[in-house]
Amino acid sequence: MNPTTTNPATAFARAPYQGKLLIDGAWVDAADGATHERRSPAHDKVVAVYAKAGVADAERAIAAARVAFDRGPWPRMKGAERARILRAVAEGILARRHELALLETLENGKPLQQSLSEIEGAADLWHYAATLARNLHGDSYNTLGENTLGVVLRDPIGVVCIITPWNFPFLIVSQKLPFALAAGCTAVVKPAEVTSGTTVMLGEILIAAGVPAGVVNILVGLGSVVGDTLVTHPDVDMLSFTGSTAVGKQAVAKSAQTLKKVSMELGGKNPQIVFPDCDWDAAVDAAVFGIYFNAGQCCNSGSRILVHESIAERFAAAIVERSKQVRVGDPLSEGVQVGAITTNRQLETILSHIAAARQAGATVALGGSRIGTTGMFVEPTVVTGVTRDMPIAQEEVFGPVLAVMPFKDLDHAIALANGTLYGLSAAVWSQDFSTCLSAARRIKAGTIWVNTFLEGHAELPFGGYRESGIGRELGRFATEDYTETKTLQLHLGGRTDWYLPR
Ligand code: NAD
Repeated sequence: MNPTTTNPATAFARAPYQGKLLIDGAWVDAADGATHERRSPAHDKVVAVYAKAGVADAERAIAAARVAFDRGPWPRMKGAERARILRAVAEGILARRHELALLETLENGKPLQQSLSEIEGAADLWHYAATLARNLHGDSYNTLGENTLGVVLRDPIGVVCIITPWNFPFLIVSQKLPFALAAGCTAVVKPAEVTSGTTVMLGEILIAAGVPAGVVNILVGLGSVVGDTLVTHPDVDMLSFTGSTAVGKQAVAKSAQTLKKVSMELGGKNPQIVFPDCDWDAAVDAAVFGIYFNAGQCCNSGSRILVHESIAERFAAAIVERSKQVRVGDPLSEGVQVGAITTNRQLETILSHIAAARQAGATVALGGSRIGTTGMFVEPTVVTGVTRDMPIAQEEVFGPVLAVMPFKDLDHAIALANGTLYGLSAAVWSQDFSTCLSAARRIKAGTIWVNTFLEGHAELPFGGYRESGIGRELGRFATEDYTETKTLQLHLGGRTDWYLPR
């Protein structure tokens, strides 16, 4: 099937995807027989039916991961062997990429071509993690005196629970799972219940690639039930969570009862700072791409444009004009750039943020409404007249809603950029090297793009400052996050007794 020419009629001609729970290497129904149905947010048709896990299933999955870690082959095999299996997973993903992309689009609402790029990008993460499986190593100290040799080992941390959101389901599980596996950990994975399909399909690929039973367990289920069980269970050693800051904070607090290690990727209110000497066309394009990509349902969305007051009016007008050209529609249609909002709840959240912006005195210069009544689509929306304390300048909307604010000088721009609780990412637009570097060094965020936006590479660490998260994913240290450090102190020769009779 060529994904760019899939038409809705073909996509819905076949039966909905059927997914079960993957526990200890077997596909099973929920203990209580519960099921969960997913409707396409763009077409309002049933596209998948799942077994829906409860507490008992979560406990079985944790027990399977525990046994696989404590007694199974995975943590004990050579890095080279784990690397071989991770590469086989990457190849398995590529072999099924059109199938994965279609299911991602049907469940999430994003354009099919975008889903395909994300699946291919995810395969690259599995390939990259395979290289790290062979390179994970500790350290040694030959500087501790004649009688002592210090050796620092990296031990896989154990059972990791991986909880993911609905905006980039396959990409985000691939930012976590291959790195945990490369380190030798076992895992229980809980995708967001509305977009579980591609994670369940990944389970099929993992088994085909030779991942042993119990090493990866996959549960479709509610955060408040399955997520909560994973977060609080004493047999889970680490929580790797991507989602909202509010739920993330609760999860950290609950996980503290068993003092788990946590890795948190949370929300953002990311600024793009535009100086008068920017490459105008590139900056306008990035402003529009940065907010409408994935319908703005992106932790990294550039949801604030901070633009120098000398060009602010003209720049806002250019954004409005370019925004009118953005093609919103059926994510299965070729050429569509922005698809549907993924959930009904998110649609309501977006519209309430727009209403709050109006109420606070901002101007909705473009859009601001739902499009039609079938499928959940929102107009590209530009809000001007925004001041620093308005909710639209502070809160993550997670939709195609851009806030534009003027600044006077670099200091003012930095104050605005750093003036939220978040610190995930930012961009700087200027042709002047000093301006870019000065701004980049002063912005408190985990990723700063200079004269570009939303690029990602497996080699580069990703994560947030402040309430955008704890820890970093990707990059060469990504596997280390899934390890404990163990110190060996080796004493050579005889040791002087402490107890000396007087
Ligand atoms: P969410 O916080 O509602 O849900 C995330 C996951 O947590 C889901 O799997 C959900 O089922 C689970 N969950 C819900 N309640 C839980 C509980 N009590 N215990 C344990 N798990 C629970 O987030 P969402 O709406 O799915 O995703 C959107 C959010 O994710 C946005 O805030 C976005 O910024 C953030 N996000 C961050 C990154 C990043 O890398 N920083 C990437 C993507 C999304």
